[in-house]
Amino acid sequence: MDQVIQVSYLLASVSFILGLKYLSSPETASRGMLLSQGGMFIAVVGTLLNHGVVSYGLIMSGVLIGAALGALMATKVKMTDMPQMVALLNGFGGLASALVGGAEFFRSQANLTAYPMVTISLTILIGMVTLTGSLIAFFKLQELMSGTPVVFPLQHGINALLFFSTLVMIGYLAFTPAATPVFWALVGVASLLGILVVIPIGGGDMPVVISLLNSYSGMAAAASGFILNNNVLIISGSLVGSAGIILSQLMCKAMNRSLTNVLFGGFGQVEAASAPSAPAPAGEAEAKPATPEPQPEVRSGTPQEAADFFKKAKTVIIVPGYGMAVAQAQHTVKDLAERLQKQGTEVRYAIHPVAGRMPGHMNVLLAEANVPYDLLIDMDEINDDFEDTDVSLVIGANDVVNPAADTDPKSPIYGMPILHVDRSKLVMVLKRSMKPGFAGIENELFFKPNTMMVFGDAKGTIEKMAEALK
Ligand code: NDP
Repeated sequence: MDQVIQVSYLLASVSFILGLKYLSSPETASRGMLLSQGGMFIAVVGTLLNHGVVSYGLIMSGVLIGAALGALMATKVKMTDMPQMVALLNGFGGLASALVGGAEFFRSQANLTAYPMVTISLTILIGMVTLTGSLIAFFKLQELMSGTPVVFPLQHGINALLFFSTLVMIGYLAFTPAATPVFWALVGVASLLGILVVIPIGGGDMPVVISLLNSYSGMAAAASGFILNNNVLIISGSLVGSAGIILSQLMCKAMNRSLTNVLFGGFGQVEAASAPSAPAPAGEAEAKPATPEPQPEVRSGTPQEAADFFKKAKTVIIVPGYGMAVAQAQHTVKDLAERLQKQGTEVRYAIHPVAGRMPGHMNVLLAEANVPYDLLIDMDEINDDFEDTDVSLVIGANDVVNPAADTDPKSPIYGMPILHVDRSKLVMVLKRSMKPGFAGIENELFFKPNTMMVFGDAKGTIEKMAEALK
């Protein structure tokens, strides 16, 4: 039987690796998900064959309750709320590993030697940091607590001290496994550390933190795999651990920020305080300049006027951003694109790596609307084409098209690669107001002579545009 179990683990591990490979392209991503799910199923069945299983009834109750809750959460969750759901699931992953560590500690406390004790302690440390850190990330994103960074004097010093104390406790436990109070102290300090490490991070940076916590949950799972001597846990945990780290780094690179800046920079705190009040759109009678400086004119137009430009356009690039997700405009965007294609206009979509609030956010939404993958062009590939484009249609994107990233060294987004929509002949920006985006900064694109703002909820605006194109 042991051989059957090991073969099932091997099959599961291969499925996870291939699944990850397929996930690297939107075209093959759903195949990757299916393969990974199949792998997980094989791993679970393999584990259930273990003769050490004490109660199938208890396991089945857990499976049924967990599956029902998971299915309910997955069907109910809004696409824009996905990051907090992932945060919660990461937290549960950390808790599960910590529970394995705790169970093993109390089961074999009398016989524990240094090596298994260190493994158990590491599982507890990483698992509890993941749990409480993920819960804070969830609370921030769900707006159950403020998303602004919570900072206080000596914060990093206190965190460093707490971390150091966990290492001392782990060292002590390695030689004195009977010290149950020290074990509980480790649980407590690790939980506190998770909270303190995440509270100084702004709500908007949470997706990076979640990806990092995802990596921690993988490491905790791998550590619990060493406790149980379970190969599939070690392999899958390591895959999650390394994929999470790589993703965090890719996201930081796309935002031109270091991981250290995300984790310790308190980003969002300064910006929230100093964000300039945005000028009202031209044409509003009560518009008052927010600063003594005269504000440049904002050119705004109606969806019907926008449609007139579309009628003449030969090339259009659609630039989706977070606002498209908020408006759930992906289906209407596709309808508009099809209408344009019918009149002979070339339409493509420019995808910025950090548009939206989670990795691949725009790809997921556009795939949901069945936009052909070959029309989704990555930033690096499409950026040179804006110069020859008649209309760039910016739908609820702001930071990812802000020229300040190129021109203003004082800007918090300076150095972040952006989509150069301002180089196209006409830029249409669809948003509800002049309010800033995630980085909390004004966008000079909105004041450029070749920019036309079309104010309103993106979905309604696009519907009106498509109607006017008929
Ligand atoms: P932004 O957050 O910069 O801007 C979104 C814009 O959408 C807002 O200015 C808002 O303007 C508009 N908007 C909101 N709701 C609607 C609506 N219903 N209809 C029309 N417009 C709407 O988004 P971007 O995608 O340009 O940039 C993403 C930002 O998030 C970047 O700064 C990135 O670094 C950051 N980030 C991204 C992560 C990722 O993984 N993708 C992770 C962490 C951070 P208004 O309110 O006026 O309508």
